[in-house]
Amino acid sequence: MCETEEKDLYAVLGASPTDSVQQLRHRYQQLALKYHPDRLGVELSSEAESAVSKFVEVNSAWRVLGEQNTRRRYDTQRKEQELKQDKPVDSTVHLEDMTWDQDELIYTYGCRCGGGFGLSQEEVEEETRLMQPEDKEEGMDTKTLGVLVCCDTCSLSIYVTWSLSKKTEIFK
Ligand SMILES: [Zn+2]
Repeated sequence: MCETEEKDLYAVLGASPTDSVQQLRHRYQQLALKYHPDRLGVELSSEAESAVSKFVEVNSAWRVLGEQNTRRRYDTQRKEQELKQDKPVDSTVHLEDMTWDQDELIYTYGCRCGGGFGLSQEEVEEETRLMQPEDKEEGMDTKTLGVLVCCDTCSLSIYVTWSLSKKTEIFK
């Protein structure tokens, strides 16, 4: 039930504001390749249409974030907006603090409205796979990952984080 307001350009690229421009470029290239209209064939299915709009979105995000000056300007705007807005994120919750539901294969967490947050194991695995540090990168033994999870009832969301380390097995 999260209202999607203005899209965060970093989120569009699946990146974080602390990522280097090399990391951003890498994400951009992956996504541009994935959604490139040339890969979609001729028929205009709704799937193809959504890929096209995703492609446009990814490109415009990269146009801003790929350039030092425009990125800096965007970062400033973004910070100002964050300060102005009531932050929609209610809190940060560690994955280990969520309740594991063995039947549904989902992590759950109660919202103060009485509703709840749910994060499927699939999503955790997908995010972990996407954000897997490349072996070449140094000093990346542990990395904190996270996703925004929306309450199923109200407009609150929580940021669920977990650490990714080559030595740690996070799945139960
Ligand atoms: Zn709620």
